[in-house]
Amino acid sequence: MAAPAEPLNLDAFYRKHHSFAWGPALAAAGTYAVTKLPKVAAYLDKNSMTPWGMEAVHYVAFAVAVAYGVHGFCVVHATPDKQIQSFDPKNKYKEHANKEEAITPMKTYAERENTQGAAVRTVAALMTSLVYYVVPFAPVSQSWGAFLGWLVALSLYWDAHFFVAHKYAHEIAPLYKWMHKKHHERKQPDCFSAYYVTYQSHFILEQAVVLMFAFAGLPVDVFRWTLYYGTLDTYLKHSGYEFGDMKLPVLPLTFSQLSTILGFYGLPFGFETPGQHDWHHEKFFANYALSFTYLDRLFGSYHPGRVPGQVLKDHEAEIAKRVEADIAKRELEAAKAILDEIPELKGSPKSASGADSPKSEESTAETESVPARATYTKLSEATVADFEVQGKAFDEYRESGQIVYNVRIAYRRRSNCGNRRRRNHCSRRRAIGPIGPQSSPNALS
Ligand SMILES: [Zn+2]
Ligand SMILES: [Zn+2]
Repeated sequence: MAAPAEPLNLDAFYRKHHSFAWGPALAAAGTYAVTKLPKVAAYLDKNSMTPWGMEAVHYVAFAVAVAYGVHGFCVVHATPDKQIQSFDPKNKYKEHANKEEAITPMKTYAERENTQGAAVRTVAALMTSLVYYVVPFAPVSQSWGAFLGWLVALSLYWDAHFFVAHKYAHEIAPLYKWMHKKHHERKQPDCFSAYYVTYQSHFILEQAVVLMFAFAGLPVDVFRWTLYYGTLDTYLKHSGYEFGDMKLPVLPLTFSQLSTILGFYGLPFGFETPGQHDWHHEKFFANYALSFTYLDRLFGSYHPGRVPGQVLKDHEAEIAKRVEADIAKRELEAAKAILDEIPELKGSPKSASGADSPKSEESTAETESVPARATYTKLSEATVADFEVQGKAFDEYRESGQIVYNVRIAYRRRSNCGNRRRRNHCSRRRAIGPIGPQSSPNALS
């Protein structure tokens, strides 16, 4: 189903969706007010915690630029062998009069629908991150141990928080409608689907977590790393393509290997892949987590998702099957047309054959010959190339008169022998002797 129309520029978007203005304004005002409470102010001062300030602006600029960057990368480099989900309209093939014309490549990434509207909402959602301007963070980590400790704690908590809120959002209908339905308008996501969200969803699934950890003393470098890397990761997870096996320039690594190295602490928890989140968008249920798979496995909602490129193989097999059926149908029609052209088969078969002659009884076994039947069957099963070769042979034999014999038998069998009422007639027809020069019934086999 196509997504509802979205405003195609930011002015129109803000006029229609006021929550993207007053929501973050309220969040920022509330956060600022809390930081000015005497006890909170003293706590922040004691721990040298300062607001993120202009870094929030830098992050928004980065996130918007990367959204368009990853989108552009996908337009150029997303190939069908990396594609996770089919997005060819169902039964498109049937609409084509010429089936061979319908053997077109699958739709490209660039042909996805409502991209402009999704891009506008993405920018609006990212702009709400300006809230972080007033959010206080602790100074950079004093040791690798501290960095890693905070990183693991933030990653695991955020994943669990996302899992629970996301699962409830799917299981409680009013909550789904209020918070998460917008994100699921895009069953075949692209990069701009990652932040194709309502503000309330963005606040609950991201900003609430950041605020909680910030006031708990999150070092600013851990926040930077998580937010910047997480933003890139979520675009790729929504791209609809798996770029994991893509070789990185200069480094002797694939993108997937680099991600594993950078996120080594997540290995015991299993990494959520683009294929798994794509499955969530396609099927609606399963794979609720943000980063790791262990919670979905634990609660029975895990699904491995699609294998990248499988959909292309299925698509090609389906097209081949349909083309083959179409060719077989055309061959059958062509064979019938040729049969109709044979003068001996027009009018009464009886008069053309002299079927009641005593000699005809002697040739019964010969006229029932399997090769004569096989010839007709082969025509209907052969490829176009086979048909052309066989057609030449067919013409030659017709010239010699031998073809009349074989084709006539096949034609009669098809026309009469399946009909109960005409079974006796058919038996009599089997006694028809050959027309034209007598030769081997294997001539066309
Ligand atoms: Zn969902
Ligand atoms: Zn999603």
